[in-house]
Amino acid sequence: MADFVGAIDQGTTSTRFMIFDRAGHEIGRHQLEHRQILPGAGLVEHDADEIWENTLKTIGVALADTGLGPADLAAIGITNQRESALIWDRRTGRPCHHVIVWQDTRTAAAIPALDAELLRDRTGLPPATYFSATKIRWMLDNVPGLRDRAERGEVLFGTLDSWLIWNLTGGRHLTDVTNASRTQLMNLHTLDWDDELLEVFGIPRAMLPAIRPSAEIYGTAEAVLPGVPIAAAIGDQQAALFGQTCFAPGEAKCTYGTGNFVLLNTGTAPVRSTHGLLTTVAYQFGDGAPVYALEGSVAATGSAVQWLRDQLGVIESAGASEDLARTVDDSEGVCFVPAFSGLFAPYWRPDARAAIVGLARYHTAAHITRAALEAICYQTRDVMAAMARDSGSSLDCLKVDGGVTANALCMQLQADILGVPVSRPAVAETTALGAAYAAGLAVGFWRSPDELRANWREDRRWEPSWDQARRDDGTARWRAAIDRTLDWVSV
Ligand code: ADP
Repeated sequence: MADFVGAIDQGTTSTRFMIFDRAGHEIGRHQLEHRQILPGAGLVEHDADEIWENTLKTIGVALADTGLGPADLAAIGITNQRESALIWDRRTGRPCHHVIVWQDTRTAAAIPALDAELLRDRTGLPPATYFSATKIRWMLDNVPGLRDRAERGEVLFGTLDSWLIWNLTGGRHLTDVTNASRTQLMNLHTLDWDDELLEVFGIPRAMLPAIRPSAEIYGTAEAVLPGVPIAAAIGDQQAALFGQTCFAPGEAKCTYGTGNFVLLNTGTAPVRSTHGLLTTVAYQFGDGAPVYALEGSVAATGSAVQWLRDQLGVIESAGASEDLARTVDDSEGVCFVPAFSGLFAPYWRPDARAAIVGLARYHTAAHITRAALEAICYQTRDVMAAMARDSGSSLDCLKVDGGVTANALCMQLQADILGVPVSRPAVAETTALGAAYAAGLAVGFWRSPDELRANWREDRRWEPSWDQARRDDGTARWRAAIDRTLDWVSV
């Protein structure tokens, strides 16, 4: 009898394999970063072969470290960076181009011509470079011969879930409904590819995967775990919502990784946003009704910390941002808006550019680093405010997870800036846990969502300490800085 469930978490920064027991405790993991290929301003690519090799390696090492084998795993689930688009050759399995990553803005010029009303109606998403559709079109238009091959069904499109399922199963071309909902090609109401949108974006149906529920058996992972069912695929943010056990309408979480993503469960009816949020599929189990969510997506948060580390070289590791920021009490007037990929929710301005404003000769890397941490929190505040307006109610506590939540200063700032407590669960890896939960439910390893709820435990809570005046001042300065990043484009 298998006592564990595995999860492949194919993130923007790294790929990891994690193993959980029935209580939702982590038993083992291995993680490998992959290259961020940055060929020019606004361009962000990944090597799909490297990601596949890392996936195999992480599974191998995690099993070796724990002394477990395929027979110990009841199932595996897959969760992945969403929207990032790949096209590969059906016959050889070779990628036709690097993965064009969700942060990539190369298609910005194509955005203003898109019909915002049509897109919002059909897909719940505004026109943006963020989603897969314009990235697929860019590859079809720019890789010689690719469009003809796509029309003949010789090449296949997939987000990273599809790429991994295809490789693991030896050729099944599937995606799940949460990932499909981020391509901007799926009709949010029928849960099928939308012919009119395929026409608008010039994308042949023949290259698209079949859309399946988020939890069901897609096949077995023959390439590396013979006999182990792949029983879930779910986009990373939806998986985190699941891992945080936000199963009821009104429950929400914020994940802090490369970007920040707040998702609010809205139940079985899609809610249209009038304040710049996305309407998206949260999950669908087997033949059950899909559950929808409102989402506030922020493009650059943890990546601002990576930028300080890799581009400016002022910190040696992401974790060192906390030590450096703690050497000053305040950012002392410095505001950092990390709009490296334009601004996502609630602004949707692909043309915005990052800015550090308010600098004096006196300021140091410590102030800029502290401002980067504050920016992570102010951007979350902006989407939380939009969510309160859209849903008519506000949260009394924010459940958080993701890499940045290791930064206790940042989490304290988040509670201060939001004015509500911030709560981190014992298992911070909620994305992987959510994929494991979905897979485990699909194969009967866990019997019900209530059993999963009982596994959720708080690890740490941060209470707000600022008064309202300080909160208002900070927000006003942040808004002024946001305006500068928008002004810049008209100069
Ligand atoms: P993803 O799933 O998007 O790859 P993760 O959840 O692994 O992201 O988080 C990685 C991000 O978190 C990176 O952008 C990194 O800079 C940031 N990060 C990790 N640890 C810290 C920390 N202690 N303080 C601030 N940022 C951090």
